[in-house]
Amino acid sequence: MSHERALAFLRALPAEPLLSGPTPVLDMARLGPALGGGPRLLVKRDDAIPFGFGGNKVRKLALVAAQARAEGARTLVTMGGVQSNHCRATAAAAARLGLACHLVLNGERPETPRANALLDELFGASAEYVATRDERAPAVARAVARLEAEGQRPFAIPLGASTPLGALAYALAIDELVAQGVVPSVIVHATSSAGTQAGLLAGVTLLGLRTRVLGVSADASSAELSPIVLDLARAALEATGVSGDALGADAVVVEDGFVGDGYGIPSAASREAAQLAARHEALLVDHTYTAKALAAVVAGVREGRFGGEGPVLFWHTGGQVGLFA
Ligand SMILES: *Cc1c(COP(=O)(O)O)cnc(C)c1O
Repeated sequence: MSHERALAFLRALPAEPLLSGPTPVLDMARLGPALGGGPRLLVKRDDAIPFGFGGNKVRKLALVAAQARAEGARTLVTMGGVQSNHCRATAAAAARLGLACHLVLNGERPETPRANALLDELFGASAEYVATRDERAPAVARAVARLEAEGQRPFAIPLGASTPLGALAYALAIDELVAQGVVPSVIVHATSSAGTQAGLLAGVTLLGLRTRVLGVSADASSAELSPIVLDLARAALEATGVSGDALGADAVVVEDGFVGDGYGIPSAASREAAQLAARHEALLVDHTYTAKALAAVVAGVREGRFGGEGPVLFWHTGGQVGLFA
């Protein structure tokens, strides 16, 4: 199948209407000079998706929830941390689509739910808590078995909705970006469960762009995460009828130098990036994901590491609710 046919397939994928059209692409006109000049800096505002406080999970869930409904699901089941943006977006999607939602969260049940945990409750999701990340998947399997026995027709959504179909939401997002007339030399974004980066790479491949994609890890090392991104990007391409070999392994670049002391723990660089964004652009980034990705933009501009003709685009993947945790 040619890439044209793959693009036609992609554009025709069934999607729930959780998006309200393209997200804005804005110039970060004051941040660049504050960093001493350099390339034109843009931001793609997926934090400003109007649905349920937005973020990258809404794009992925628009496709994955459509699959769930096509399969007759009545309950969405997924997992994450207590402050998971993905769980909050899943709870919101379920509410909007008239489905039930059950969440498996690692951490302590909060006495006073805040931020994403508060929203999960408002959206009407039920939640159970496990002590560690490793206990989540077995707990999801048990919940699915129980809900099936009760006739609740569960549909389990993997971590971050990072299935090949979920990833294709970001291939569609590349299509959206190009239709906005923007072809960056590099896209910088936060990466964790690999779906966003895999989809961006699949989209760049399908559209034949020379744009580089730099995923900035929120937790895992590049050695751990890169093969996962590559496999998922190739599976996403295969789902559109294109050979996975269309994507070379060297296109997958995961920067793990901004994790700092670990997942969700602010670093000096992420604190500085958050302050720069807020004070120069009135942009809000979170300490788990987007501040660390923006810190990579800040460092790259200062060190003159972004060559190429087009602008540098920071893809804001959301997470602003976490500021109120
Ligand atoms: C989940 C998430 C990411 C990471 O996206 P993946 O597709 O899981 O790699 C980045 N930023 C925010 C705000 C997120 O919630």
